[in-house]
Amino acid sequence: MRRAYNFCAGPATLPESVLQQASDEMLNWRGSGMSVMEMSHRSDEFVAIAEAAEKDLRELAGVPDDYAVLFMQGGASSQFATVPLNLLGDRTSADYIDTGIWSQKAIAEARRYASVNVAASSRAGGYVDIPDQDEWQPDPHAAYLHYTPNETIGGLEFDFVPDSGDVPLVADMSSTILSRPLDVSRFGLIYAGAQKNIGPSGLVVVIVRRDLLGKARKETPTMMDYRVTADHGSMYNTPSTYSWYLAGLVFQWLKEQGGVTAMGETNARKARKLYGFIDRSDFYSNPIAPRFRSWMNVPFILADEALNGAFVRGAEERALLNLKGHRSVGGMRASIYNAMPEAGVDALIDYMTVFEKERA
Ligand code: PMP
Repeated sequence: MRRAYNFCAGPATLPESVLQQASDEMLNWRGSGMSVMEMSHRSDEFVAIAEAAEKDLRELAGVPDDYAVLFMQGGASSQFATVPLNLLGDRTSADYIDTGIWSQKAIAEARRYASVNVAASSRAGGYVDIPDQDEWQPDPHAAYLHYTPNETIGGLEFDFVPDSGDVPLVADMSSTILSRPLDVSRFGLIYAGAQKNIGPSGLVVVIVRRDLLGKARKETPTMMDYRVTADHGSMYNTPSTYSWYLAGLVFQWLKEQGGVTAMGETNARKARKLYGFIDRSDFYSNPIAPRFRSWMNVPFILADEALNGAFVRGAEERALLNLKGHRSVGGMRASIYNAMPEAGVDALIDYMTVFEKERA
């Protein structure tokens, strides 16, 4: 069977060897006589799977001991509310940086609980660059500063970690986590929906400095309280066991690839190739300031929009899938997460070359 190259932004392509292993273990996990999906989450077998996944993630991301790692549910979007509910404490305001659609969704949800100060925005330039930090206007009373290191739809990615001083820095890393090395100690809290670089959708991984636990507002649903989740090893209720297991397989795969340093080098090369090709072409273009171009999500437009349909159809014929851009922005988008092999990027560039020659 020929697997397609799937450029979907999420749920996204997973490493083939991970899917193969999951398939091999589907009916009978390592002699247990059961699928992981059928195991009690309290069983020794599953607890071992869960602990190994956490240990591997800690190792991969270099998570210091004074941070809790939580495997929660409800996707990254549920964190848009969970973050303010837990981190506001006795404060009433929070700083947010607006770099595009995902930061705006986080801002809109936070406004239900907090007075949001948009400390900086990419709006003026049309969301193609990020204002210098010395132009930001943070609120000295903010409980935390939230930003979106990689805007999955816009394809705009920070090439620096903001300095938030003593204010805890909170990052929605859904579409960039584990794509390159990261200094976790710079952050108060990191969250990431799993369906790009980690595993199945629905699961959301939270890495939170332990001194930020235990500040949840009274009305916070128990299931959304970070301290309750941490105290119960992410098993206050039945966790998303199969997703957690699959995430663990992805973490093992990442370690086999050489971890995030090696992955970062490959990702940089993949992105350079694709942007380099786009920049050399008169037919394709990407509007983002080169410094802030996403390594993971590469939006591009065709010189003639009327050719979009033909482009997508031709790509599908070559088993290059899900290249149509997000419905809100149009054009094309190639998501090239960790699990997209370099050969997939090469195949895409080959196709784009042929299409341009035939149609431009
Ligand atoms: N934040 C970012 C940066 C995303 O890319 C996405 C999903 N594409 C979300 C949040 C929302 O994730 P979920 O669908 O898991 O709620």
